[in-house]
Amino acid sequence: MKVTGFELFHMDPMWLFLKIETDEGITGWGEPILEGKAHTVAAAVDEMMDHVIGRDPMHIERHWQRMMKGGFYRGGAVLNSAVSGIDQALWDIAGKKLGVPIYQLLGGAVRDRIRIYGHVNGGDPWDFGNPNLLIENLLKTTQVQLDRGLNAIKFNPSTILENIDSPKVLKEIVHRVEVVRDYVGDDVDIMLDFHGRFSLAMSRRIFPMLEHLNLMFIEEPVAPEYTSHFELIVNSTSIPIATGERLFDRSEYKDLLRTGIAVAQPDLSHAGGISEVRRIAAIAETYNVDIAPHCPIGPISLAACLQLDFATPNVLIQEQIIGLGHGPKSEFLNYFVDSSPMEAKNGYIELMTKPGLGVEIDEKAVRAASKKINRKRFPEWTHKDGSFAEW
Ligand SMILES: [Mg+2]
Repeated sequence: MKVTGFELFHMDPMWLFLKIETDEGITGWGEPILEGKAHTVAAAVDEMMDHVIGRDPMHIERHWQRMMKGGFYRGGAVLNSAVSGIDQALWDIAGKKLGVPIYQLLGGAVRDRIRIYGHVNGGDPWDFGNPNLLIENLLKTTQVQLDRGLNAIKFNPSTILENIDSPKVLKEIVHRVEVVRDYVGDDVDIMLDFHGRFSLAMSRRIFPMLEHLNLMFIEEPVAPEYTSHFELIVNSTSIPIATGERLFDRSEYKDLLRTGIAVAQPDLSHAGGISEVRRIAAIAETYNVDIAPHCPIGPISLAACLQLDFATPNVLIQEQIIGLGHGPKSEFLNYFVDSSPMEAKNGYIELMTKPGLGVEIDEKAVRAASKKINRKRFPEWTHKDGSFAEW
């Protein structure tokens, strides 16, 4: 079998789909995307495919090595995201060729279903850049997830944060989490994502105020470049700490895993695809760290995550945004010929049995919805004095 060509599709809200074609008529799908940088990643995919075109798609690891290292310059968000999507598509082809789901090629299923969590949002649920956080909206969107049968939710309870902010702002954050905890009771797990908006000092100040809320984890209290701060953060609180969505390979995880974090969050569309995240998970296991694959993006990336989750022992829970997060439910599920395998039952997605990614992409629907230009970006936030603020 030989790879004969590929095609990229720019999709709303900020996704990029990749289709790889072969001379046997088998096609593979991947999602090579760095959100807000779709055109840059598309150009990187175009260059990376020089390593793959005309060659046997079954040699996944050989392609991975060539793509990652063959350009001499390596690493970073853009190149790793490009390789990630190609890697997903190659695994999809391999599974289809052999007539088995990808998890079978990774050693077989270690679980019968995977627990998922949903996002809740205090702003307009379709506008993830809205800096207003209304309790009424938080509870409304919490109820949407509970109605879906989910029993694990995540949200960001902070608005724009100064590196050291006021007592009022801290108390507002705690209050929002208290209201949601009161609303859902103790049967529902709550995770908080602070998007790196805290400093180390703010983390140490606010975590004791949140400990009574029994959170599943707090994610990205500080920005990813402060890996060395995580040990101090972990030692300052009993709350499990999660991070890793903005790290791109196993070497970047090495120091982080030693800090005592509880959960690593590699993204299968950023951190080298199924191949590399499988390795990151294995290294994490040696530190007794669980992984919760980051996936606030599209349906193909989620399908890749699920295949990995089914085969990987130390997966805690899977992120997904079907129905709430970055777009309406229809937008997400419309791209599958049959989306029923993605339906959550009592908070879990059941083991998929179809070959490759486990779900067939509806190419007609993808083609009809794809765009020539998609320049959607993350919002720009500013502090009161006009200076840049972390989103
Ligand atoms: Mg996050």
